[in-house]
Amino acid sequence: MLDPRTTNKDAYTLILEAIDSHIYKPGDRLVESELAERFGVSRTPIREALQRLETQSLLTRDGRSLIVASLDHSQLSELYVVRGELEGLAARLAARHAAPEEVKVLRDMLEEDRKLIGDPEGLSRANRRFHKQIHLGSHNRFLVQQLDLVHRSMALLATTSLAAEGRTEQSLDEHARIVEAIEAGDGAAAYQALRDHISEAFVTRLKLDAQAVEAAE
Ligand SMILES: [Zn+2]
Repeated sequence: MLDPRTTNKDAYTLILEAIDSHIYKPGDRLVESELAERFGVSRTPIREALQRLETQSLLTRDGRSLIVASLDHSQLSELYVVRGELEGLAARLAARHAAPEEVKVLRDMLEEDRKLIGDPEGLSRANRRFHKQIHLGSHNRFLVQQLDLVHRSMALLATTSLAAEGRTEQSLDEHARIVEAIEAGDGAAAYQALRDHISEAFVTRLKLDAQAVEAAE
């Protein structure tokens, strides 16, 4: 897990991590001089990083300023479809290729993550670690790259679906089912368990968005 406060990271990674950890949220303005000061980096690499992030659609223009992009409703559905399939594929491949040591790491995570119940931020980080471990367990570098892309776009969602009440324990139970299938070497079951997990996360997300609309009215 990367920590934004550690040095020797490039400006791009630093800004990306700040978006990912919601220091900068969708709609927030990113100002070159402020970023340079915050990260102790000169303005040229910051400018280059901002251009790169804009090319990747993680930032968007609002008049003359650059703001963190947000996902509209159809982009959100599109993202979850791709995520479900790719994560499912990763689980299927992990069931076939993950080393016993890698499965053990997943098992240990299940246990450790239970201790984080009540800490949404911690759980959100743990969730990312868990999924990343499955990606790596697939032993397919192209898939890992594609999943990194998907997860980068997930950073544009204002809140984590784990913040939803009651979702935490259910989500951890789903994680347990995924690990069981991977451990059993059952690719089809692992694929299905992970697809279902992402589908539940999407349902939670839609409910959260509906509540947010209600609250704004
Ligand atoms: Zn999860």
